[in-house]
Amino acid sequence: MEYKENTDKVTSLNFIEQIITRDLEEGNTGGRVHTRFPPEPNGYLHIGHAKSICLNFGLANKYNGKCNLRFDDTNPTKENVEYVNAIKEDVRWLGFDWEDREFYASDYFEQLYEMAVFLIRKGKAFVCEMSGEEMAAARGTPAIPGKESPWRDRPAEESLDLFGRMRKGEFPDGSMVLRARIDMASPNMHLRDPVMYRIMRASHHRTGDLWCIYPMYDWAHGQSDYLENITHSICTLEFEVHRPLYDWFLDNLEITENRPRQFEFARLNLNYTVMSKRKLLELVEGGHVRSWDDPRMPTVSGLRRRGFTPASIRMFSDKVGVAKRENVIDMALLEHCIREDLNKNARRVMGVLDPVKLIIDNYPDGKVEELNALCNPERPEDGHRIVPFSKTLWIERGDFMEDPPKKFFRLSPGKEVRLKYAYIIRCESVDRDENGKITAIHCSYDPETKSGLSGTRKVKGTLHWVSAGHALEAEVRLYDRLFDVPNPDDNPEDVDFKDNLNPDSLRVVKGLLEPSIKDARVGRRYQFERTGYFCVDPDSRPDNPVFNRTVTLRDSWAKINK
Ligand code: ATP
Ligand code: MG
Repeated sequence: MEYKENTDKVTSLNFIEQIITRDLEEGNTGGRVHTRFPPEPNGYLHIGHAKSICLNFGLANKYNGKCNLRFDDTNPTKENVEYVNAIKEDVRWLGFDWEDREFYASDYFEQLYEMAVFLIRKGKAFVCEMSGEEMAAARGTPAIPGKESPWRDRPAEESLDLFGRMRKGEFPDGSMVLRARIDMASPNMHLRDPVMYRIMRASHHRTGDLWCIYPMYDWAHGQSDYLENITHSICTLEFEVHRPLYDWFLDNLEITENRPRQFEFARLNLNYTVMSKRKLLELVEGGHVRSWDDPRMPTVSGLRRRGFTPASIRMFSDKVGVAKRENVIDMALLEHCIREDLNKNARRVMGVLDPVKLIIDNYPDGKVEELNALCNPERPEDGHRIVPFSKTLWIERGDFMEDPPKKFFRLSPGKEVRLKYAYIIRCESVDRDENGKITAIHCSYDPETKSGLSGTRKVKGTLHWVSAGHALEAEVRLYDRLFDVPNPDDNPEDVDFKDNLNPDSLRVVKGLLEPSIKDARVGRRYQFERTGYFCVDPDSRPDNPVFNRTVTLRDSWAKINK
């Protein structure tokens, strides 16, 4: 599957930008654009969140506005500080700055409580003593109206008293809830007297044991936007049906000025991976991957470790665009973006991943030439590196064939190829072990063909190589899709998404690399000529360098599947 560039996107505005432009023209928001990125700190961020980050911070940048980072931390049993810190690191790494606007829904617990009291006083909320099961049974279905709670019409004073005592901790967990009093017959299930508060004795990572009642997300979310003066509250499509509830809350709180308005866009879906935090957590906890930042994970930290750049993820987010309808993006697009970036910016080196020995019989024993190689042909200003050349080299086993098909331009008996930056060689013979496996390829070289000499002969194939006596040994981790089906979430009832894990998603090989990358620091990115883009893994040690392959050079995957 090839990605087709949509050049229209560069010049035309997406639907959210159109709305903002109109709002600014008409003065609807007092000339302000204020967005927010509202993660729940219950997991690490994934590429879908990155899309939302680029969108929200991007709009603020574009329209000279502001974007807050707000943690929607209303569920203490699933949330913690590790996640908060990881989220902050990821947003910063992506290149965005919330300045001094780091907020938490938990900062508003007191205000939310007061707002709830206001609604109770108006008869718009009540304390309900039905059990969870009773409430679920009474909810009805979209076609069948629900049943009203027997506590629905209790006097406001009584609800007020009970709500105060809920807060004080007088009642056990789950014994009562505060519900909005809306309409049990509404075709919109979210308006059927939804729960606003539950009793839950759980320590919160910020408020500790101050509270034993916690607001529901739907209650906290819109009011948090209001309290932060958010103008454009952007979220994914599944919240479209929640919007009437958010509006109901604002209406009944009698908020008329500075009301946040919600706009929904289609969430980003990528093939060959899963994106729900619950499932990603399952992969981590079940040991199917090493950690949240395993380079196979679609998390921002995983992509970072894999070698993706912030610019490549921002480019991806841009190219995906802002859609109103659900769609699935091909992983190949993400790979296209990182290749674009690294092709321009990654330094070239040579590394052999599946080595076979090559001996140049007519090259002098013990001689070493220091050859000049461009660091990056896309950026001549980066200069040269020195690559040692000698009689005994490593080349890729796959670059030699004894009995090649017609269009094989690499090495085979009697044929010539160029060794990159060096000479033209010709294959003379091979050595084998007792099983017939080739152990060495013998060649001759033509000293008149040194790379860079004017008027040297041309041959069709060029191979990368590493001098055996100088090679740096490294652990090289090669990754493939984490799942081996395009939509691992789409299963029959009895199949778990983890059954679709690709057993070969990680392959570790010993690489033999050119010595110029000795002591490369963690995170440094390279192109290994002809084999892909790689970066140094945090596990790397001077005596055991470790490289991750970020992506192959071309979209070889798509080709194989055709
Ligand atoms: P998940 O389903 O993975 O648990 P979530 O929506 O529950 O994700 P939040 O922490 O609530 O996770 O998400 C923070 C913000 O990121 C929300 O505004 C949400 O709409 C947005 N977001 C989450 N997933 C995606 C996605 N796949 N594409 C675009 N935006 C997303
Ligand atoms: Mg959410």
